[in-house]
Amino acid sequence: MDRKILLIYTGGTIGMKQNPDTLLLEPFDFTQILQEVPELRKFGFVIDTYSFDPVIDSSDANPAFWVRLCELIGANYKAYDGFVVLHGTDTMAYSASALSFMLENLEKPVIFTGSQLPIGMLRTDGKENLIDSLELAAACDAHGHPYVSEVCIYFENELFRGNRTTKYSAENFSAFRSPNYPPLAEVGTHIRYNNQALYHPSRWGLPLLMHTQLDNRVAVLKIFPGISEAYVRAVLATEGLRAVVLETFGSGNAPSYPWFLQALSDFTAAGGIVVNITQCQTGMVDMGAYANGDTLRQAGVVCGRDMTTEAAVTKLFVLLGQYSDNKTVAIKLEISSFGEIS
Ligand code: ASP
Repeated sequence: MDRKILLIYTGGTIGMKQNPDTLLLEPFDFTQILQEVPELRKFGFVIDTYSFDPVIDSSDANPAFWVRLCELIGANYKAYDGFVVLHGTDTMAYSASALSFMLENLEKPVIFTGSQLPIGMLRTDGKENLIDSLELAAACDAHGHPYVSEVCIYFENELFRGNRTTKYSAENFSAFRSPNYPPLAEVGTHIRYNNQALYHPSRWGLPLLMHTQLDNRVAVLKIFPGISEAYVRAVLATEGLRAVVLETFGSGNAPSYPWFLQALSDFTAAGGIVVNITQCQTGMVDMGAYANGDTLRQAGVVCGRDMTTEAAVTKLFVLLGQYSDNKTVAIKLEISSFGEIS
């Protein structure tokens, strides 16, 4: 039987054309995708399309959008062998991270891709990204099991785990990086799958579980030398706030000013969660390495190791939506359940 892929267009540069009068980028009618990319007819599998209406600039992505996307995939899960999601690059790493936590027991590929130049432009990177993503989404072994059974981002010849990825360049075709986890596949003249890095379900046939209750009572606090007490206290005093992603220096260090540690301790003592992730691109938080990290631990801060900001924020949204008890969330936060922590 032919394999079937659902191609979902949510918006972003990839589906745009330049308006010759205004020179502004505007979305084209996605039902005309075959006109723009006639190469798609050459695939030996079925490609159905679904377009969001209206499409969004990915800067407008939010929990409601992720729930819609998750439910769309859930409703079509049995009918398709894989999903390719065309998405703006700006927040693609957030959306891919969110979906990785929302889709439990996933055993089919969900591959996000996009482009830096619109598909209607001669030098576009969109065609290649789209064609390669479709091929990766349809690939399977002799038993019909897909090679890829997780949420990924494909960009410029590399397939990355979605919740390990971050947007790296506003201009380069190679726009994404997965600093702490190797690529899942590299596409050249051959497609080379990295079997050691890919997720392999331990059992096939488990029902897909969708977590669509998201709680966004989360703040991101990026520290910097000279940060003021008023600013830190204002963030922590945000009404209803349940969790803070604390972006620290190096291996998880922060100022040792008494007011800073006191502010964090007050927040955690009142039941709030503070998770420590590093501002560095590579490496991980180790709060036992320096005295300044250790004081954070004493203030009740939990360790995010090498989670990206995108993963930490969206994992919190999903966990806080699932559990009303912050203690349970804090415990689950430190455990890698979807390959998001080394
Ligand atoms: N602003 C666009 C978006 O993220 C940029 C892109 O698609 O690359 O939707």
